[in-house]
Order: sequence, then C-alpha cells, then structure tokens
Amino acid sequence: MTLATIPRYDPDRVATVGDHAVVVGASMAGLSAARVLADGFERVTIVEQDPLPDEPVARNGVPQARHVHLLLEAGRATLEDLFPGYCEDLLSAGGLVIDGLSDIIHYEEGDYLADGPCRMPIHFATRPLFEQILRRRVARLDAITLRPDCQFVKYIVAEEAPTVGGVVVREKGTEQERLTADLVVDATGRTSRTPTWLENHGYSRPPVDEVRIDVAYSTATVERPATDRRNIFVPPSPPRTRGGAAFPIEDGRWLVTLFGVHGDRPPTDVNEFKSFAASLPTPDLEHILESCPWVTEDISHYPFPSNIWRHYEELDRVPEGLIVTGDAICSFNPLYGQGMSVAALESLVLHHELASTALETLPKRFFDRTDSVIAPAWMTAVGSDFEFPQTTGPKPRGTALINRYMSRLFRKAQSDGQLRELFYRVLMMEEPPESLFHPTVVWRVLKPRF
Ligand SMILES: Cc1cc2nc3c(=O)[nH]c(=O)nc-3n(C[C@H](O)[C@H](O)[C@H](O)COP(=O)(O)OP(=O)(O)OC[C@H]3O[C@@H](n4cnc5c(N)ncnc54)[C@H](O)[C@@H]3O)c2cc1C
Repeated sequence: MTLATIPRYDPDRVATVGDHAVVVGASMAGLSAARVLADGFERVTIVEQDPLPDEPVARNGVPQARHVHLLLEAGRATLEDLFPGYCEDLLSAGGLVIDGLSDIIHYEEGDYLADGPCRMPIHFATRPLFEQILRRRVARLDAITLRPDCQFVKYIVAEEAPTVGGVVVREKGTEQERLTADLVVDATGRTSRTPTWLENHGYSRPPVDEVRIDVAYSTATVERPATDRRNIFVPPSPPRTRGGAAFPIEDGRWLVTLFGVHGDRPPTDVNEFKSFAASLPTPDLEHILESCPWVTEDISHYPFPSNIWRHYEELDRVPEGLIVTGDAICSFNPLYGQGMSVAALESLVLHHELASTALETLPKRFFDRTDSVIAPAWMTAVGSDFEFPQTTGPKPRGTALINRYMSRLFRKAQSDGQLRELFYRVLMMEEPPESLFHPTVVWRVLKPRF
C-alpha cells in the first residue's frame, strides 16, 4: 500500500477501546503511533530512554539524526493529516520546501534526469527538526504523557497470558516501576528486543529477511548561499560503489553526505572527504565543499550493514497487547529515504485497525496489514541494492528484469521529464511500483528513440 491506496486518517471513526496504551520510543514511529492511539485510549504514555530537550538536537538514541533525511510525500501527507499544520510549523522553524522535479539535481545512468513537467513540493529539514516539530505537537495532546530519561526494562505478562499487560520501566535515578496497559507499542528502532523476548516466552522469533549492502554515510555541514536551494543526489551505481548528496536544511546550510556501499567507506578527514567527493562522476558536491564555508570540520559517520525485515505477519501466534512498528519491524537502506514515511503509514494502519473492531486480535491484524505497507518500500530499496553483485540475501523474484527496465527508464528520463515525474511519484511512495509497468509507461520506456 502507498499513499494512493491506503484510506486517509479519520479520527471520527475511532471509539474508545481501552484505558491506557504505552509506546516505547519517542522517535518518528513512536510519536506517530501515539497520535493515533490517543483517539482510542483514555491515556497514552510514551517512554523514552533519552532526555527530550525542546531544541532540535541529535539524540544518542537516534544516532542517524546527524545525517541527511528526506521526508517523502507519503510521510508528509500522513503527518499533515495527523497533525494539521505540521508542514507550516516546520517551515516556520526554518525548514524549506523545494520543487522535487527541478530543484533536485538527480544523476542516474551517466546523466542528470530532466526537469519534470509540473511542480512537486518536497519539504527539507534536519532529522532533529522533523522530530522536534512532531514531538511538540504530540506534547500538546491532553491524553499523551511523554516520559523522557525513562528506560524500558521488560514487558509485563498478564495473568491471562498470552497477553502483554504493560511494561516495567526505570526512570533515571529512581526504582523500577510497573506501567500496566491495554496495549504496548514497541517503537525502539532497529535494535528492538521483542524478537528475543518472544523466544524467551514460548513464542517463535519472527523470520528475518536480511539483505546486506554494507552502506556507510559520512556527513559534513556547510554554509549555503541564500538563493541556492538545490538538493544534489548522486546515488552509487555499479560498478561505482560511491555516491553523495547535498540536502538544503534550516539556518542557511547544506548537509553534505558521502556514501559508499560494500566496504567503500566515506572518510571523516576533511581532505580525504573532499577527495572522495572529487571522485564522483559529477562536480557538484566537490564544488560545494570547495566553495562554501564549512560550519565545522567535524564529520559524522554512520555504518549501516543491512536491510532487515522481521516478518511478524508470518508468526502463527503473537501475544495479545503488543505490536511493533517503525524500524523495529523493518529498516531499509537509507539511500531511498523511506523509514520515516513507512512509520507514518504504519500509524495509519494502526488507526484503521483501531477503528474497525476492538482490541482483540489487534496485533495479528496490524502485522498482516503492515506487510503491504512495507512490501513496496522493501522492493525499491533491496531491488536497487541487488544491482550490485556483492549484495547478499533473499532476492525478490523478477529483480534482475526490473533493474534492467529501471535502468532504461532512467536513461529515458534524462530527456523525458514526464517519466521522471512518474518515477518520483513511486519514489515518494505516493503511487505503487506497479504504476511504472502500466502499458503507457512501458511504451514510453521501451519505444526506440527516433
Ligand atoms: C543514515 C540514515 C539516514 C536515513 N535517512 C532517512 C531519510 O532520508 N528518510 C527517512 O524517512 N528515513 C531515513 N532513515 C531512517 C529513519 O531514521 C528511521 O526510519 C526513523 O527514525 C524512524 O525510526 P523509528 O522511530 O522506528 O526508530 P528510531 O528512530 O531508531 O528510534 C527509536 C527510539 O527508541 C528509543 N529507545 C530505544 N530503546 C529504548 C529503551 N530500552 N527504552 C526507551 N526508549 C528506547 C530510542 O532512544 C529512540 O528514540 C535513515 C536512517 C539512517 C541510518
């Protein structure tokens, strides 16, 4: 499911289904989930191990926040539905909106893609700003309590097992505390401990698809001329294992990220960083790094070994009272910018499941439906990763054929702005990947050039 195929948010459809829900993790997935839970529960408590200052700062629990983050249209539209005025708040705090079809300078298959025939607004900001605006909106809701500096310790198993009946937490400097709840949401990210907990409590671990891409990010911050709002994007493309991007962000800056896959590590030394940029097939990033003043010479690094999809929907038995969302279910190669948007769509799934019936069987229904939100994003991410022969893991059927088709689509989109638009609607998770295989699109891609 993508934005076009999942019904939109409608709070009037949700009646009260329980007294208390607990969300573990106050990042993008946890905050989005808490918003929809506040329609169906009297109280929602969000437990977060980090302090949550009001400023937009990168937190220890979200180390990827120092690197470029793109909010796809599916995520933007969903967050705007959940928090009307979210985008306006983001812009007031310094975020930018640019045109995705002309301000994004996108290099693929040996040339830049053509400008598109219409406008496609896309919001840019740092990851901490996206999160801060969301957190502020969540904090304003009466039903929700945020508990920073509060570590999740374990789930409480209710007497009428197999039901999770809450969590044990420890707030900094205090004793352990029990929070009973009708529903617990694990939004603790990629390092979620739920699979191990399930195994230790008589359940199976969810089967895991792991696709190794071994990507690493190194990111610097430079001053951006006020009139230049371009986003540069040069993804790796075999046999070239390296690429880079410049994202316009608040405070008149660019985040410049260099990435490498399959062990091609982007450096953290300033001169080596510039040399890495100079080795890319376009001069854009090298030029930015040479001509713009650097805000700091600190370069952040983040290694990301593999895409991981934990298939909770395949489990025969899951405990009542516990669901898992966001990166804790599936974390994707970040190059395609999908994680925050998939998390937002998953909160919509949760909303619709809360609206349809009572709490019973909610986890099973939720896991079954999130599968169809994750699948198109997974196909985009790992499909592209399998362009590299070094990529290992379960390869979706038809990947080689689709990759050959996409390669041809990109080459055509270097002169056909409409093809670029169609591709971007899929990239932005507005339209499903199948839309690129509609006969009229296939004709555009395959017809010979005259
Ligand atoms: C380098 C990089 C770049 C990325 N770029 C993009 C992008 O461009 N666009 C995009 O949409 N996505 C991107 N992503 C993915 C995106 O960051 C995540 O998908 C997004 O943050 C949602 O994750 P989450 O909320 O599920 O988990 P996380 O962001 O990992 O948050 C988990 C939260 O749980 C808390 N927590 C963990 N354990 C405990 C505990 N025991 N007790 C209490 N709290 C706990 C953590 O402190 C944290 O706040 C990128 C990821 C990486 C690595």
